[in-house]
Amino acid sequence: MTSQPTGKNINVIGAGVSGLTTALLLQRDGHRVTVVAKHFPGDESIEYTSPWAGEFSLCKTGPRNLDGRTERRMVYRNCWAGSNLELLFHTIDLNACRRALAHYGPKRRQAVADLNNRLSDFRMISESITTDYDAISFKTFSEIARNVPEAGVMFVRGMDYYDNETEDFMDPWWKNLVPDFRFIPKSDLIPGTKVGHDYTTRKHRHLSPFTPMPPSPAHTSPSHLTVTINTPKYLRFLLAQFASLGGRTRRVALEHIRDAIDMDGSTDVVVNCTGIMARSLGGVDDLAVYPTRGQTVIVRAPHVKVTITHVAANHMTYIIPRDNGEVVLGGTAQKHDFTATADPATADSIKRRVCEMYPALAHGKGPEALLVVRHGVGLRPSREGNVRIETERIATLDGKIVIVCHNYGHGGCGYQSSWGAGADAVNHVYLGLTELEHETRKTRE
Ligand code: FAD
Repeated sequence: MTSQPTGKNINVIGAGVSGLTTALLLQRDGHRVTVVAKHFPGDESIEYTSPWAGEFSLCKTGPRNLDGRTERRMVYRNCWAGSNLELLFHTIDLNACRRALAHYGPKRRQAVADLNNRLSDFRMISESITTDYDAISFKTFSEIARNVPEAGVMFVRGMDYYDNETEDFMDPWWKNLVPDFRFIPKSDLIPGTKVGHDYTTRKHRHLSPFTPMPPSPAHTSPSHLTVTINTPKYLRFLLAQFASLGGRTRRVALEHIRDAIDMDGSTDVVVNCTGIMARSLGGVDDLAVYPTRGQTVIVRAPHVKVTITHVAANHMTYIIPRDNGEVVLGGTAQKHDFTATADPATADSIKRRVCEMYPALAHGKGPEALLVVRHGVGLRPSREGNVRIETERIATLDGKIVIVCHNYGHGGCGYQSSWGAGADAVNHVYLGLTELEHETRKTRE
């Protein structure tokens, strides 16, 4: 088991969702943490993906599924008021998650069982590490949605439509785990689609899929299944929590990872959360990282209280409401495309598709009636070979060994995996430090 080093000087490069989450976890453990970044919450740049995400936090198909029903719902509810993050951390017991994640590899099965025992009502449903990341994160986001309204995370009803009758969609393995799952009746399907899922609260299941849910305070609806995130607001929330725990920030554009290592003479650890820019940061130069461009249209539509996705053969159309009355409309997934500006034809196509999918979005009046607030373009930091969470050792100019932990390459899942991936990165840091201290002690003996 990894011991927990204390009082280290740590520079986290990056103030996106990966950097801020990891920094918060390290700050919480009592280290002196500085977030070093070119961009911070409030900034807009094609080099800074996190503000552009639509974000809904339950990925239901493929290996990244999780069991929504077994999550802890009530136990800590009354003892966790407001945004006291310390209580949040106790609630989700990230230490237990970390310990379990530390063992993945040959001992993985036992580790998952161990984690399941510790968090008895939080059942892992896969041996996949990224699924674990998602499971931990979904649980955390659910707690935040339930208890911290100012974080910009809310529960919503979710509906998905598919053009293909694959086994995954016709018989989703998770359907019996969700108390409110139902197939959308054929008569209510979007024209051209073959199968649809509706997952909502019992009290609203009588509604037609095209009836927006009656408004209710987001954080008092405990049985919704998915959450959506107002990403700019959530980033500001993370930064404020980090600062309130004594975390420091420094705005600087680094040319080489060494710049963070040699920033001052006392650095023990550097965590690299540079997202798409891991391609060009000197000393990292990871060309396995590539952009999957996403274009969105953000509209004002406070009446929308449902997230809807239509997965077609060659495109995906989605509607993701935020807690401020804005709705993110998407989207595109263009691999290896670095274009930073919004393409008007793509925007028109998105508006047309979402209005066909959900006419109530524009009160039945079509795309022209949409109240466009802005257009968004972001580069999902995809990576051949999946995310990179691992450590290496780099010597400073005066010969001190620094642990460098990478945490990037989260593609289209940076939010939904953020808490689990952050916990895993922290665990890697502790493992690296412990091994280094052990070796140094042995050399001295
Ligand atoms: P970033 O947010 O890009 O942060 C990188 C940070 O590193 C920045 O602060 C930057 O300034 C800093 N940096 C980089 N290089 C340097 C340097 N040399 N010197 C100093 N600082 C540096 N994810 C989901 O989970 N669910 C979704 O539904 C979802 N939808 C999406 C929809 C769209 C349209 C897009 C574009 C993305 C979506 N994503 C979604 C993906 C998600 O946004 C990303 O995975 C996530 O934001 C990546 O965060 P990050 O912190 O790793 O990188």
